[in-house]
Amino acid sequence: MSNGLRLVLLGKQGAGKGTQAVLVAEHCGIPHLSTGEVFRAQAGLGTAFGLEAKRYMDGGDLVPDDIVIGVIEECLAPGGMLADGFVLDGFPRTLRQAEELDRVLGRRSLDAAVLIDVPHAVVQNRLAGRRVCRGCQRVYHVDLPPERPWICDTCGGDVVQRDDDTDEAIGRRLEIYERDTAPIIEMYRLSGRLLTVDGVGSSEEIFGRIVAAIEAATGVSC
Ligand code: ADP
Ligand code: ZN
Repeated sequence: MSNGLRLVLLGKQGAGKGTQAVLVAEHCGIPHLSTGEVFRAQAGLGTAFGLEAKRYMDGGDLVPDDIVIGVIEECLAPGGMLADGFVLDGFPRTLRQAEELDRVLGRRSLDAAVLIDVPHAVVQNRLAGRRVCRGCQRVYHVDLPPERPWICDTCGGDVVQRDDDTDEAIGRRLEIYERDTAPIIEMYRLSGRLLTVDGVGSSEEIFGRIVAAIEAATGVSC
């Protein structure tokens, strides 16, 4: 049985939200959802929805709120994949998305919003050097490539640079983060739901900090 925790991960692009969402989800027995992954998968399939999202993503812009909120709302509805607890990665990303999430969740709101805190210079370097497996989404870095050049160690898929990991798009994404996403940190802080963990270290270390923070704040041990 799932313990029904409702969590969101916050942090700059490249802070490690995707990696930690997978680990936390597995550890706590709840599903995770990355809105960016949903959009990339749909774009890869060539659906009208995916191609529309891709137009925004490739330039580093946000997909419009109404589109993103529609996706999340569907997943949160009774019987949806997120109805019994979740960890979200990449949502909410604007104040309006955060407010809509509270509205959709109703009285039983989020248990915690975990901010993975990483300095700007660190994420800049992580994003510029990031390479991702097309098959299983495993993340590499130019300084830590797969064994055979750009063939995934895990699944044998092609390891490539994301279309929005160009210098120009990275700069734009980090600017948009400061302008549109950073304000939601304050919103969660004011409502007593914000947990901040230091996001510099190995993924095991950061995972340990996240689980400890969640358990201390919610009293749920998972
Ligand atoms: P990153 O956090 O590194 O930018 P993501 O995979 O989370 O990577 O998101 C990739 C892109 O998908 C974003 O730049 C944006 O265009 C789009 N996207 C993802 N989540 C949202 C969201 N909640 N609201 C608007 N756009 C989003
Ligand atoms: Zn792979």
